[in-house]
Formats: sequence, C-alpha cells, structure tokens
Amino acid sequence: MPRSPASLLALLLLTLWIGAAAASPAERLGEAVRFETISYQDHSQIDYAEFIRFHQFLRQSFPRVFSELQVETVNDYSLLLRWPGSDAALPPVLFTAHMDVVPVEPGTEQDWQHPAFSGVVADGRIYGRGTLDDKIGLMGLLEAVERLLAQGFAPQRSVVFAFGHDEEISGHGGAAALAARMRELGLHFAWMVDEGGMLVSDNPLLAGVTLAMVNIAEKGYLTLTLQATGEGGHSSNPPAVSTIGRLANALARIEASPFPPRLTPPVVAMFEALAPQMAQPERMVFENLWLTDGLVARRMAQERSTTPFVRTTTALTMFNAGVKENVVPQRAVAVVNFRLLPGDTPAGIVSYITGVVDDPQVEISYEEWENLPRVADHVGSGFAVIKAAVERVYPEAVVVPSLLTATTDTRHYVDLVDNQYRFHGVEMATSQTTSIHGTDEYVGIASYEKSIEIAVGMIELASR
Ligand SMILES: [Zn+2]
Repeated sequence: MPRSPASLLALLLLTLWIGAAAASPAERLGEAVRFETISYQDHSQIDYAEFIRFHQFLRQSFPRVFSELQVETVNDYSLLLRWPGSDAALPPVLFTAHMDVVPVEPGTEQDWQHPAFSGVVADGRIYGRGTLDDKIGLMGLLEAVERLLAQGFAPQRSVVFAFGHDEEISGHGGAAALAARMRELGLHFAWMVDEGGMLVSDNPLLAGVTLAMVNIAEKGYLTLTLQATGEGGHSSNPPAVSTIGRLANALARIEASPFPPRLTPPVVAMFEALAPQMAQPERMVFENLWLTDGLVARRMAQERSTTPFVRTTTALTMFNAGVKENVVPQRAVAVVNFRLLPGDTPAGIVSYITGVVDDPQVEISYEEWENLPRVADHVGSGFAVIKAAVERVYPEAVVVPSLLTATTDTRHYVDLVDNQYRFHGVEMATSQTTSIHGTDEYVGIASYEKSIEIAVGMIELASR
C-alpha cells in the first residue's frame, strides 16, 4: 500500500528520533572523531569552521548541559561551562580537556586499519585520531554532566569545565584565553584535573595489577637555538674550522654530557605508593629510597623508556647549514629541546649547556617557557577525590601519584589553581600509548564507559 508523503515524513522523524535516542556514548565519541578539529603548526592550515560545527554537535548531543550550565564561547573556539554550586563559599573545582587533535603524518594515512577520521565503532573499540588524545576526556566529562543533570544532581561546590581548542600547538589561543576569562571572573580553584594520566593494565612495575597513574606534576619544556658563525667562502679554499664543524662539535659535547639522573618528589611518591604491592627484594629497595635513591635513579636512566622519569632530557632535533656543495656556509644553526625535571630551571639549563659547549663562537639563545606547574599535593582532598572515584569503578586498581613526561595545558592555569592533577580515567595497555599522535589510535568501548563512570564520580565527590 503506498504511503502518503505525510506518513513518510512521520516515519522519517520517528527513525531520526529513535536514532538520536539510541545513540550510545561510544557512537557519540565516534561521531566526535569525525569532526576534523586539527591543529596545525602553520595556523593558516587550520579549518576553524570545523570547530564551530563541532560546538553545534556538542550542543545537540548534550542538551541538558548546554541549557542548564552557564556556557560561554571564549576566543571564538574554546568553551567555558560553569555549574554554580549551592554554597558559594566553597572554592570551585576545574575540569579541563582539549578539542583539537594532531594531524595524521602525511604518507601514513593508508597504514590505519580504519581511516583516521572515520570514527568507526567496531570490535569493541572506537577508532580514530583523537579518541585517546583527548576527545575521550572532553566527551567523557560532558557525558558525565549530562548523566548527573538527568538524575537531578545539584552540586554544592561550583564546578567549571574549560575546553581549549589549540593544546597541540601551545594553548595560547585556547587555554590561555580561558584562563584570562576565568581571572576576569575572579575564579580561584582548589584543584583541577586535566588530561595526561590514565589507568595502565600491563605496567612493567607491578605485573598483573592495573595502575591508575594520577600525575601530580609534569616536566618543563625548553628549546635552545645554537648558532655558529664564522668565515665561509669557496670550498676550494676552506677555513680550518667550518661553522658546520664547530656546531657539530658543540652538539656532540652536549649529547655526551647528559644531565645526571635523580629521583624527584613525584617519582618518590609513586614508588612509595607502589612499594607495599611489591614482592621482595624489590619491595625493600623501594621502601628505603633514602638509601637506595641514587641506585634506582641510575638504573632507570639506563633504559630509554624510564630515563625521562629521572633525568632532564636532551634531544637534538634540528640542524641546518649550507646551501650549495661548493660553498662553505657562514652560519650553521641547530635546535635542542630539553624536558626539565621538577626543580630544574631554564636559567640553570642554559648555564650548564653554555659550560658544556665552552665556545664563544657558538651563540645560545632561547625563548622563555611560561610558568612551570608546581608539584601538586598527593595527600590532599583533590587527590583523595580522584582516588575514590577510580576505586568505585576499579576496586582492584592501585592508584599512584606520578610524573607526566609530556606537557599539557595546565601551565596556563598555574596562578588560578592550588593543585593541578592530570588524569582521564581511561584504561589502556602500554602498547596503545604509541598510537597517541601515531597510527591506529583507538579506545576500548568498555574502557571508555568506565572512564565516564569515573568522571561522574570525580564531579560528584568534588562538588560536595
Ligand atoms: Zn592532549
């Protein structure tokens, strides 16, 4: 029997309604991945309209959040959401995530099992660029708030959500603008949670135990530019020492003089939390770090995977000189990137490297990195809330403070927050971490759903 256009329309609307109502968190995350909110170092390549479309998608996906919280767009593409608590005297808590992702490395598109921006949900996983870094954080928090609003939950303490749009290229347009706006609003937070910590199911430190790594600190960041200048000219009559030789010599000395390994407070705190779970003789080693710290630091410095935890690292990343095979260049330039342990300062690094290079014809310059985040308290209320929220969902997990060896947007919020933590409650295997900024990034559906439960717990417990 032929249907009338009106009944067809009704059928279509019904299908759309069922479609919308049936969407699961996993499907919504898949959809979020399909928005190519890519940050490029060259800002002219960024498709800002995609960020606006992404905002519209968020509004449609989380109707309660966007109608019941105070929502502001900051600097056109970042989002600030405030959920006022009933007790204005309590200092608020801040939850952050970022909506931008890194590009897929040109030439590796075909290596992906599913296209990077297809957001395919299959085999118990959600695939795509940004699933782990950091759309899971952003979507997970919004899922949690939507769920709490549906239950009629009202916070006692105010809760604020700040979602930047350019974390992958410094956060100057996003987190820095969000921080400026929050300063204007006179906000000061007891603590905050950003990306950068997770649950690791197969950690090498404690076999068979899921570790929740709550990062209480992150490493600092410093880039030095080294420039050697000297006589150039025709290669048929070269100078005794070329600029290339001079600079190469300086770089070889830098690489041969790594910073000495040492244990810093976040790493000591991690081992102190782990020690009771360990078997002898490791347990004795880690319970007596006052005696064994030098030994442990030296041992960790020998492994490429653990050395960033115990050393300010030195990475030679760029080297440029010369334009023609028969011309000796008058200038050679190299770039060295350092990741600083808590306690190390840019001035200290520059002075050490200047001493190592020991050549006045190699000029060293740098741009000052902004505020280095302080080490947060791992016995305070913020850490306790995160721990309790994890233990509700993963009763068997061991929650430990740790040090993030990468950087996050947290440095933009240093003056606004007493204690900064880094943790989005997703569980993954160590092997999965290489897919962050790499190929075949994915998150397990079960892991994602549990991360939402952890977010619910963090918000609920934080707002008391
Ligand atoms: Zn990230």
